[in-house]
Amino acid sequence: MAGSLAPTWGDTSLITGASIVAGVVGRPVAHSLSPILHNAWLEAAGVDGVYVAFSPDALGFERFVRGMRGGAIRGVNVTLPFKEAALGLADQVSDAARRAQAANLLIFDTDGQVYADNTDGVGLLGAFAAQAPQYDVTAGPSVVLGAGGAARGAVSALLAAGSPRVWIVNRTLEKAEAIAADLGRNVSALPLNHAVGAFRDTRAIINATSAGLSGQGSLDIPLELTPEDTVVMDMVYKPLETPFLKQARDLGRATVDGLEMLIRQAEPSFEAFYGQPPPKGVDVRGLALKALNP
Ligand code: NAP
Repeated sequence: MAGSLAPTWGDTSLITGASIVAGVVGRPVAHSLSPILHNAWLEAAGVDGVYVAFSPDALGFERFVRGMRGGAIRGVNVTLPFKEAALGLADQVSDAARRAQAANLLIFDTDGQVYADNTDGVGLLGAFAAQAPQYDVTAGPSVVLGAGGAARGAVSALLAAGSPRVWIVNRTLEKAEAIAADLGRNVSALPLNHAVGAFRDTRAIINATSAGLSGQGSLDIPLELTPEDTVVMDMVYKPLETPFLKQARDLGRATVDGLEMLIRQAEPSFEAFYGQPPPKGVDVRGLALKALNP
């Protein structure tokens, strides 16, 4: 502790000369909820640490990672558009990051090594466990809408958790086919406008497109064709209730929201940065909702 002259920013936390520094890197990043989650946990746990946002320009990300080598800071979460680049800049890559072909977590060891991981899959499955505990990933097929980085991560996490079949449904079929070809014979690709067959016996539908994000067009999916016990999840959390989730709720389907996924992926990241799990009982969801709806 640096003593009484250290600046305080909460009842229990101090930022001192020994503070563990971590953060999130993305562009844009100012809207990120991650600093709110991590700093609330730090404060509640009385950990001498801080979590801040970094936003290098598109060409500056590699320089940023190079500069952090050797442990200038402990690590970063990585968000759009740097997740794929982050994987390529790491010296060691976890299985989850390799399967997702993207990293949302970089740890900078003091020996200069950079370690890449991906906690989005843990976040996805954790969100289902929290909001739809009746969902059993092994019990039947799942549908993932989209074929970007988030979709690929979701498909690989579902397979790793024992899903017997995953349908990737995307507007641009070739992108879905490329993921299916890469992730094995239990994955199949369908175009968005000819996917009815996939909906009839699915246990879960996950929106991993950016449709529904504030100001963007929403999806037109015949959710009424799905079995009544299908769980519907949307990775988009701005707005919290997307048109897709509203459609699901109106049909009486159980739903899982993207904010829960964000919180659940942050938990293992916190532990990787600060060496302990986040403290229990902090209403980070409430804080995040306040930030989403000021
Ligand atoms: P991405 O690589 O840009 O992929 C976007 C996907 O959305 C593409 O497959 C694209 O289809 C599809 N798409 C976009 N607009 C569409 C529309 N109007 N109708 C149908 N399809 C549409 O993005 P990403 O990194 O995978 O992320 C996807 C979303 O997940 C983002 O909104 C991101 O914020 C969210 N996300 C949330 C979390 C969380 O923790 N909650 C974590 C990761 C990502 P085409 O291939 O045809 O262009």
